[in-house]
Amino acid sequence: MEERQLDPCYGRWYQSFLCNRRYRVRYGEAVSGFCRFANGVPQGSVSGPLLFIIYTDTLSRRLYELHSEVGLNHHLFADDNTLWKSSPDLEVCAIAIQRGLDIVEDWSHEYKIPVSVGKKEGLLFTNSPADRNKLREITLGEEIIVFTPKARLLGVILDTKINFGPHVDKLKSDVGRRLVQMRAIQGSDWGGSSKDGRGLFGAYVLSKLNYGSSAFSPLLSATNMQKLEVLQNRGARIITGCLQTTNIESLLLEANLQPLENLFSMQCAVAAEKCRRLPEYDPLYQTATEKTPPSRLVRTAQSWQQHSDDTLHKHHCRIGRLNSKFKPETLKKAQLADQTIDLRNREPVYRYPSVAPWDTEKVNLVVFKPTLILPCTKDDSDEIRREASEATIDQYRDYGIKAYTDGSVVDKLGAGAGEIRSDPNPAFVLANNDPIVINCAAPGGHLSSSYTAERVALKITLETIRDKSAIIKKDKSLFVASDSQSMISALGKGPLRQTNALNADLWKILLQLVNDKGITQVVIQYVAAHCGIPGNERADALANEALQKYNATKMKADFKKSAIPLGSVKSELKRAIKAEWKNSLNPDKPRYAICGDSYSDLKFSNTLSRQDEVLLHQLRVGECSKMGKFRTRVGIAATPLCRWCNNAEETVLHVFSDCLNLSVIRANLNVPGVTILHTDPELGLKFYREAFAIIDQYEIK
Ligand SMILES: [Zn+2]
Repeated sequence: MEERQLDPCYGRWYQSFLCNRRYRVRYGEAVSGFCRFANGVPQGSVSGPLLFIIYTDTLSRRLYELHSEVGLNHHLFADDNTLWKSSPDLEVCAIAIQRGLDIVEDWSHEYKIPVSVGKKEGLLFTNSPADRNKLREITLGEEIIVFTPKARLLGVILDTKINFGPHVDKLKSDVGRRLVQMRAIQGSDWGGSSKDGRGLFGAYVLSKLNYGSSAFSPLLSATNMQKLEVLQNRGARIITGCLQTTNIESLLLEANLQPLENLFSMQCAVAAEKCRRLPEYDPLYQTATEKTPPSRLVRTAQSWQQHSDDTLHKHHCRIGRLNSKFKPETLKKAQLADQTIDLRNREPVYRYPSVAPWDTEKVNLVVFKPTLILPCTKDDSDEIRREASEATIDQYRDYGIKAYTDGSVVDKLGAGAGEIRSDPNPAFVLANNDPIVINCAAPGGHLSSSYTAERVALKITLETIRDKSAIIKKDKSLFVASDSQSMISALGKGPLRQTNALNADLWKILLQLVNDKGITQVVIQYVAAHCGIPGNERADALANEALQKYNATKMKADFKKSAIPLGSVKSELKRAIKAEWKNSLNPDKPRYAICGDSYSDLKFSNTLSRQDEVLLHQLRVGECSKMGKFRTRVGIAATPLCRWCNNAEETVLHVFSDCLNLSVIRANLNVPGVTILHTDPELGLKFYREAFAIIDQYEIK
């Protein structure tokens, strides 16, 4: 701690915490004598992990010296330590690794942390198996390092060719086991609903498939990728109870899923964008921004950096990476302006709080109120919501400064605005009763969400209050109303728990107001939106006005001044990748004629019995166990012909739309045809039951 130049008081503090610690064992009534801790920290202590990092940081710093000298890289995660070196010359690699291991060996003696026996592995990444024999012996102390064909690192299995084949095989068995467990709680005519199945699949199976995917998925071969898709498809069939022969696209739409490949592409691009938002000294920032080193290993697959670039470029994002293949000058100017999302102004991602804990003394003077004093919900009438809001606002009528903020978003461009009213200096109240009114507005940037626009609105309002001396007078209290409940809840977590720059900035300004500007109390209060509260309506109008102003050609550049949050990039990519997949769907499949490319409503199917729910899924995808084709295949029926008219093949489309012998039931129930399965599933099921009642009668006779 001293080496790290931490305040000596912390060092002394920890010295007293760690030194002369004693322990004893109790068994029933009996108690042993005291023993002294020779080394280590008390188990389960809050600062134990932090102390471990400070302790092992010494190793990291010694290894780091080798980085500049021989280009050796290292990575520490908890008690896992990885050293690696890349070079076309095996001898260069071996020398660098050996020097690193010598440092580890010395350190482990000096710091009394032995390297666990049998947990040391070497892995040589190469295309040529012969290279293995050319590599000289590498040792850690007395022990020779054994080189293996694959090794597990933080839950991902690496192999010598980095094609992640062994990792896919491991996933196959792990996920296969989890699918069997899913199958045990949900059948096609019993058990949990599709909605619950989908929830379980996401939490228990997808999370497993997804772990580390941004690193390994770009390097998967088509065959390996397909192995993983097959696992997901099995899951989709368990969720929906659909048959083995069901068309995959239809199956995924019924289960509210999309190809894994889409999910992986998004994760990969988002991971790269996240890295580019870290501080410049972060190694992840460097790998995500620098030129990818050429590799003789990877032939068909791409590096994760290149893969993420391609995904972002495909969706018109300009990322400004050094070796970017994207050439904006090849686009026509108009295209560039209209289609390109300029990501270069990135909102930083914070890993640590940007406010020092000791600067938050007055944090209690800032209060966030995400609820109203009277109970009311979004679904209540305007009147009820207005009454509840006004009663809440009325509590703060004595506050010297009152502000309303609101954000506005159209076509992914946003703006935020605020109206501030400050009571005149009390000394002049009798002379002049009019409050000072100041309006302010700021652009919310490209890809703005309404959440971002609301935060921009609050930021410009607080900045204006801080900077205009006419508004602020000492000993005044500040009331701010916003209709963004999510923003108020997020900020309410406090200044030390904000992970993005905008929220952190908001807290910085709030603390300035109470620390430096003498504001005695700040209340940020939620009020219901669009229900006729005058201040809120005025702020809304201001935000719309501002948006129009910035959108005027001359001021379009203003949008670029606002940084783009990572969350916005993520939701935009999610939307774009899903839209692209939906555009590529095969319109010849039966489900397309019924539901188009929309997902099935799992919330609705939740209200049906499991049998009905599965029947509905099967009918919509056109593969139903109760219909002709399936019945003949499994030998229940001799012919696939329609049991009602014997004139055409018995398909879902025929029964629901075309069969002449069912036209009376169809007309009686007012069923327009097969689309009823999507537009009014309950009526669709009713038609099905009435049609089948005829057959049941006939078959019983
Ligand atoms: Zn028929």
